[in-house]
Amino acid sequence: MNTAVNNTKNILLSKGITPTFQRIVIYEFLDQNRIHPNVDTIFAMMTKQIPTISRTTIYNTLNLFMEKNLVSGLSLNGNEMNFDINTHPHHHFYCTICKKITDIEITCPIGKNKLKNPSNHLIQEVHGYFKGICKDCLSAPSLDK
Ligand SMILES: [Zn+2]
Ligand SMILES: [Zn+2]
Repeated sequence: MNTAVNNTKNILLSKGITPTFQRIVIYEFLDQNRIHPNVDTIFAMMTKQIPTISRTTIYNTLNLFMEKNLVSGLSLNGNEMNFDINTHPHHHFYCTICKKITDIEITCPIGKNKLKNPSNHLIQEVHGYFKGICKDCLSAPSLDK
């Protein structure tokens, strides 16, 4: 077994997850492709590597990963769930043309610690996203802006 796989095994074990072959493959896909894929994309990619894998296995694995805070789920358009291996609080950019979701480095004025919170709620997570046209699509010659 190579070191990357060993690493993944240790990450899964440290979260109390039994590192089965399928779980390792799904985790590595998410780690190496930080594209915030939805279940359909993950399923399509996984069947290339494991032709026998079922959608249920993928759902169950992703739910387990979410329960153990290994991945977070985000829903930008409200009707599909996208999976993110970056569980640190961060914002996203959604391209309305190519529909890609990428992480965006923006310092949020509503930081968890320096929060001026007029309502006295305890805020534990901050999710923000920005919508627009990504740099790849902006430089595409055919785009009618
Ligand atoms: Zn784009
Ligand atoms: Zn992200």
